[in-house]
Amino acid sequence: MPALMVHLPSPIAEFWDWHLSAACRDADPAVFFHPDNERGELRARRARAAKQICQRCPVRTACLNYALDAYERHGIWGGYTEGERRTLRRMRDVERPLASTPPGE
Ligand code: SF4
Repeated sequence: MPALMVHLPSPIAEFWDWHLSAACRDADPAVFFHPDNERGELRARRARAAKQICQRCPVRTACLNYALDAYERHGIWGGYTEGERRTLRRMRDVERPLASTPPGE
């Protein structure tokens, strides 16, 4: 009888290991995700505070890549706001159009 070969996906913990070293592990999530209707200087100040944490984060690249690949629509990830990530995604999509189709499209 031939051996049954099963290919399982990588353990999910492996995918999320970078979180363990995140500089924001103990930070208030409200710094990274704006409340409804936050605008102007309040929003800019909150985003700057989040970006300061991200600047010293050892897993910033992994975080940003995750957010771009997952089409994270909210929050500061990898030191970039939602709008900044949209720009990065558009630039990336121009460079590799076949590999970056959003899920469900
Ligand atoms: S880059 Fe910023 S949002 Fe991402 S894990 Fe690091 S501190 Fe958190």
